[in-house]
Amino acid sequence: MNFSLEGRTYVIMGVANKRSIAWGIARSLHNAGARLIFTYANERFKKPVEDLVATLEGQNALFYECDVTNDEAVQHTFDQIKQDVGTIHGLAHCIAFADKEDLKGEFVETSRDGYLLAHNISAYSLVAVARAAQPLMTDGGGIITLTYLGGERVVQNYNVMGVAKASLDASMKYLANDLGKHRVRVNAISAGPIRTLSAKGIGDFNSVLKDIEEKAPLRRTVTQEEVGDTAYYLLSDLSRGVTGEVIHVDSGYNILGLS
Ligand code: NAD
Repeated sequence: MNFSLEGRTYVIMGVANKRSIAWGIARSLHNAGARLIFTYANERFKKPVEDLVATLEGQNALFYECDVTNDEAVQHTFDQIKQDVGTIHGLAHCIAFADKEDLKGEFVETSRDGYLLAHNISAYSLVAVARAAQPLMTDGGGIITLTYLGGERVVQNYNVMGVAKASLDASMKYLANDLGKHRVRVNAISAGPIRTLSAKGIGDFNSVLKDIEEKAPLRRTVTQEEVGDTAYYLLSDLSRGVTGEVIHVDSGYNILGLS
């Protein structure tokens, strides 16, 4: 079995800057020989993403704007990708958003609008993207999304984003069931906390990192590269029998009981 990704094309959604988990995934797939397609939320991210990707030697990437809150924009993006490259072999969905106000204090204070916003961008978007991308995976393929322990357990300040991640995890499983007949696998990586633009919005994030360093079995936080290499596994034939799964890349933190 050949585990190189030469000759394969993957869509990476959610690179904002060099700290993004999506960027770690992009580098792992690039190192494995994949051709990459990047989507970004709006014009503001275009140049920074293009500049970052220019550092990937020999990468002949394509770029598209795609605001995942807009069904027409999502469909248009994948119509364009189909026109430009034809077949894709996988997709990494690395997108989430919630109002900063909803990422501190008590969950019970979450407004209806804040709840819907977080679910719209962070959970429903996977469904919309999977529906638009699947027809391009004519050789079968893999879809991965990024989740967090706060969707399985109560994590202080994670609040509405935890509830959205629970919805994302369930959506991932239902999608795995629907798309399996098209030879498309759908999985999630539950990453340990990593300092990124999105993480900045979470109240007292430093103490979350400190807790991992003190208590996780590996006694350290994880890196974008480590998440990237697990994404490579999930998007390659190495994981050909795996779908509907959540893999924790979190230094083992999720196995701990209360202390
Ligand atoms: P990031 O800020 O680098 O990436 C989030 C991305 O979501 C950005 O590129 C942003 O532009 C994009 N986005 C937001 N709204 C969008 C929209 N309407 N349309 C299209 N794109 C939109 O942060 P990150 O931490 O790399 O986040 C990537 C994923 O990883 C998220 O799902 C996040 O919840 C998850 N995650 C992060 C951590 C962590 O500690 N950083 C841990 C576990 C899971």
